[in-house]
Amino acid sequence: MRCLITGGAGFIGSHLAEHLLGLGHEVVVLDDLSTGREENLAGLPGRERLRLVRGSVLDADAVEGCMAGVDAIYHLAAAVGVFTIMGRTLESLRTNLGGTETVLEAARRHGVPILVASTSEVYGKNTAIGLTEDADRIVGSPLLNRWSYAEAKALDETLAYLYGVEYGVRTVIVRLFNTVGPRQSGRYGMVVPRFVQQSLAGEPITVFGDGQQVRCFCHVLDVVPALVALLADEGAHGTVYNLGNPEQTSIGELAERVRAATGSRSPIVKVPYEEAYGPGFEDMERRVPDCTRAFERIGFRPTRSLDTILRSVIQEYR
Ligand code: UDP
Repeated sequence: MRCLITGGAGFIGSHLAEHLLGLGHEVVVLDDLSTGREENLAGLPGRERLRLVRGSVLDADAVEGCMAGVDAIYHLAAAVGVFTIMGRTLESLRTNLGGTETVLEAARRHGVPILVASTSEVYGKNTAIGLTEDADRIVGSPLLNRWSYAEAKALDETLAYLYGVEYGVRTVIVRLFNTVGPRQSGRYGMVVPRFVQQSLAGEPITVFGDGQQVRCFCHVLDVVPALVALLADEGAHGTVYNLGNPEQTSIGELAERVRAATGSRSPIVKVPYEEAYGPGFEDMERRVPDCTRAFERIGFRPTRSLDTILRSVIQEYR
């Protein structure tokens, strides 16, 4: 098979590329290298079967130029990271809305199945312990910058769903819950690489807010095979799947665990949200997935604990 991965030079995309190459497929990566990095793809086994095209998903010609012989599309390209969303909100909104429509159009024209990566962020402030795919979305004012990401991704889901219903495009939507692991950068806000780098450097570990907020971290290597299995499964098409690890950790506890695992003496400091992200920020108190649907469909069950995740990220930064 030949697979197109938009955003394939990014953190999750490059692991997906590695997995698909490992299965013997050809891979075309379309990436504007805004947050993705060529180095993420450099040493991959089977790299000779991968073609990297530098271009934007907003550019319909660039997308079309990648489509020859493609059998499956994984649409991962997006503006990511809370720092990016808060700092370049309009540009992020445009990328996340326009990019998805452009890629869905290509899928429709070529009759190719497509997986659209969405996010647990769409649930917003719903704190249910075990969010199911049909849980209500509770989001704040559209004038608060943070919610623009959730709004864009929710509309992407609706678009993908309607391309399925009205045009017969074979689509799968996945909502990813705090996917982490090697190659993830801390530059755009993600907490695990930031805490690890801060600890290893002996710098203060910056806990935003009171540290009571809860997240569930899932190793990227647990997520990637599920993306492939879902898109390959005709019975999985036309709906949305949560993918995450239900193990809950507060951000305060995460800071402690990273410090202990690195043997660091970094102080743990609390930074008010406004100072961290600027005005217009609301955080989610808790975000916990219920992945029953993905388990029943493809047997999805993450096996890597937070300790394993932290070990792999610490090893990489060391
Ligand atoms: N966070 C933090 N310190 C940092 C970066 C992030 O305390 O240096 C917090 C952030 O405010 C959020 C949680 O860690 O409550 C997870 O942040 P991330 O951006 O990784 O993912 P999110 O769940 O917000 O999409």
